[in-house]
Amino acid sequence: RFSTAAAVQELITPQVSINYTQHLINGKFVDAASGKTFPTLDPRTGEVIAHVAEGDAEDINRAVSAAREAFDNGPWPKMSAYERCRILLRFADLVEKHNDEIAALEAWNNGKLYEQAAKAEVPMFVRLFRYYAGWADKIHGLTVPADGDYHVQTLHEPIGVAGQIIPWNFPLLMFAWKVGPALACGNTIVLKTAEQTPLTALLVAKLLHEAGLPPGVLNIVSGYGPTAGASLASHMDVDKLAFTGSTDTGKTVLELAARSNLKPVTLELGGKSPFIVFEEADIDKVVEIAHFALFFNQGQCCCAGSRTFVHERIYDEFLEKSKERALRRVVGDPFKKGVEQGPQIDSKQFEKVLRYIKSGIDSNATLECGGGRLGSKGFFVQPTVFSNVQDDMLIAKDEIFGPVQTILKFKDINEVIRRANATRYGLAAGVFTNNVSTANTLMRALRAGTVWINCFDVFDAAIPFGGYKMSGIGREKGIYSLHNYLQVKAVVSPLNNPAW
Ligand code: NAD
Repeated sequence: RFSTAAAVQELITPQVSINYTQHLINGKFVDAASGKTFPTLDPRTGEVIAHVAEGDAEDINRAVSAAREAFDNGPWPKMSAYERCRILLRFADLVEKHNDEIAALEAWNNGKLYEQAAKAEVPMFVRLFRYYAGWADKIHGLTVPADGDYHVQTLHEPIGVAGQIIPWNFPLLMFAWKVGPALACGNTIVLKTAEQTPLTALLVAKLLHEAGLPPGVLNIVSGYGPTAGASLASHMDVDKLAFTGSTDTGKTVLELAARSNLKPVTLELGGKSPFIVFEEADIDKVVEIAHFALFFNQGQCCCAGSRTFVHERIYDEFLEKSKERALRRVVGDPFKKGVEQGPQIDSKQFEKVLRYIKSGIDSNATLECGGGRLGSKGFFVQPTVFSNVQDDMLIAKDEIFGPVQTILKFKDINEVIRRANATRYGLAAGVFTNNVSTANTLMRALRAGTVWINCFDVFDAAIPFGGYKMSGIGREKGIYSLHNYLQVKAVVSPLNNPAW
């Protein structure tokens, strides 16, 4: 099947070149202070496609100084909200115009399907910026009916310099989820991209400046987590930190933020989301949704439906069809039409996924299909399905972040609620039933930031996203994200002239 399936058509040739590899600080592309660079790869082959400026503490200092100056003395926070809105709308138009070029760079650097990037992710990026542009001139405080002869109002002010650290699985969308609301509220930003995927953020940031963003408002530093990332999290002049990535790193940045200047932190972390199928569900349709919920983006989604709970009465048929679907999954070059799955992001993730597969086999789960590497170069993994999975197996507890579906059997509703919630995570859940009472019971009982009923992975700029428990702190997207980037100031004054 590898790259040779009949459905696979000719390579879609990406019209893209890599023009931006330096840090973006104060509106200019600049080398790292140390002069160092690091390689960024094409996950299809493991080959180097560019050398990118490698940031460390000094680059973060320079970027934070630029953001501080732009916040304290620059035009952005004081600009009319309508003008900020118009710049964000112009930016969305420019990204839309360059849709295919941006999508190609995203797919090239990440290994995700070109068509997915071109038809879903870049358009969603545009939608997010239009959504937050729409908020820019609708952010305002309240008049408060307090006791006594006082006029009381709240001012909603930008929080200041926002530090943002993003992961590699959705480089553009993570940029939009974080940069969109921060800019709409009038903040300035230092963004640290993931070391695996530094390229598209620099390309779109160039377009944002063409749209009229003043220098210093958005600064981007490429580099590694323990150096550039940790410097940003612990910087004394950063007023707020937003992070997406693993739960372990989330704990680290929260601690760094607390030990430095106690900056508020929002975290969007890992998950082990239950996907629960009741007996009355349409098996063929739900098998397809369950397959998508797990295998989408090579399984590299924080909200992947990675524990497929199936009612015992339909378990055997569901399993057989899930296995058959996984065997039909077309793995290959993400630039080819008809391919459904590209490579994992890098050798580290690739090895990690293979280790989890081995752990599943060693713990006596049944390997139904897949289980190994595909091809001899790049980071391709066979679509893998395990049955007879027990709750205490590592593959049922840990976030694998790869194309490995684990199918578990359940008997009744109370049991599945208990088991679905018996995890340190709480990011998302899916429920498949035609029974209204079952749906109503589960949507309340499941401890997860998103519950999809009879659907999965439905995203929209307006729908909030975030986790319970160790899946995170706070919500992104929608109106909720604005609160992450605003300070509320209470202003109190006597109704009448003071009598002095
Ligand atoms: P990670 O948490 O190490 O990296 C995410 C971001 O944090 C990157 O920009 C990285 O450079 C930065 N970072 C790393 N160490 C840091 C530190 N000490 N201080 C500040 N910033 C730091 O994640 P990863 O290693 O890329 O992936 C590992 C696992 O994380 C995956 O297997 C998956 O389980 C999870 N993950 C989750 C998401 C998500 O969307 N929730 C995204 C990517 C990865």
